[in-house]
Amino acid sequence: MGWRVKFIDFPLQWEQQREFLLPIIDDTLARGDVMLRQQLADFERNLAAFVGTRHGVGVSNCTDGLRLIGHSLGIGPGDEVVTVAHTFIATISPFVMRGAKPVFVDIGDDQLMDTSQLEAAVTERTKVIIPVHLNGRTVDMTEVLKVAESCGAVVIEDAAQALGATIDGRTAGTMGLASTYSFYPAKMLGAPGDAGAVLTNDDQLDADVRRLRDHGRVTKTEVDGWGYNCRLDNLHAAILDWRLAQLPGWIEHRRTLAGIYDEMLNDIEELDLPVGPESDQRRRDVFQNYTVMTDRRDELVQHLTEDGIEVLVSWPVPFHKQSGVGLDHWSLPNTERLSRRVLSLPMNAELAVSDVEYVAASVRRFFAA
Ligand SMILES: *Cc1c(COP(=O)(O)O)cnc(C)c1O
Repeated sequence: MGWRVKFIDFPLQWEQQREFLLPIIDDTLARGDVMLRQQLADFERNLAAFVGTRHGVGVSNCTDGLRLIGHSLGIGPGDEVVTVAHTFIATISPFVMRGAKPVFVDIGDDQLMDTSQLEAAVTERTKVIIPVHLNGRTVDMTEVLKVAESCGAVVIEDAAQALGATIDGRTAGTMGLASTYSFYPAKMLGAPGDAGAVLTNDDQLDADVRRLRDHGRVTKTEVDGWGYNCRLDNLHAAILDWRLAQLPGWIEHRRTLAGIYDEMLNDIEELDLPVGPESDQRRRDVFQNYTVMTDRRDELVQHLTEDGIEVLVSWPVPFHKQSGVGLDHWSLPNTERLSRRVLSLPMNAELAVSDVEYVAASVRRFFAA
């Protein structure tokens, strides 16, 4: 299908970036810098500085980052991990795979964890609470940190979608014990493949994750315990480091586009929009996604598709209602209701203002008809 506006246009992204990235790729490979080299160290340092943590560890992907944290913390059978089900399943799967029991709280109408439900969800077995800064919007951490302290749990922030987002002047990913990031190609900072990072201010956790990602090695020949192979490829790190330098401009562009959607769509009664970029005094959202909600979601998807606009529904069936994961006993009314209403419109750094105007005009035509 020839899309008029793609959800993400990777060929266009490459066309815009190749003159900058080709010399970096050439230089990296010409040096033979393929594993754990300077480019990775530079990226880790720049990433930690961008977010505002002491340490950054590049890993193979965000899921593995969570897995290494779970291992470092010794999470296992009998432990409970509290999070939301309106997220990618990878928020919780690394802990379930270690034998922990997942515990869910519902979400609010902004699609983020309803933190008022946390206190009732924790027990003396709760070891980890995972707020998910979904769609580039930061969870209000006040209650999360308070409840975690009261039950002795640690907070791990799933910041896979929120690189650079802030609340009350604090950056997402700096408020818990550690935070994890995804550089999956479709994320705001994407690699040409899988990649991720763990950020923390904790020296011990930094050392643990660093060792665990590389077979338990502390130097090339010295092993200090068992480990995994969860390294971030050096070539990916070199590309990510260049892209990280562009990220502040890309975030500005995303916020501009979100403002245009907001301006063009905010009078449609049947459509609920995300909080606009200038409407939240406490937050600076980075709009990893621009996710709208409507009771006529499936019809709207059909209409936009016919107009050549590629959209994404995350997620049409929440994972606790997926067969085979054994979570069907959970009832999360708002998560289930929103799964029938959400729809993400195209939102990425390569989009032109005219693309967003085209999408918004198509949405307007649908609701006017
Ligand atoms: C993308 C994503 C992940 C998983 O990241 P990978 O790098 O693909 O492992 C986890 N949590 C959230 C919220 C995500 O969006």
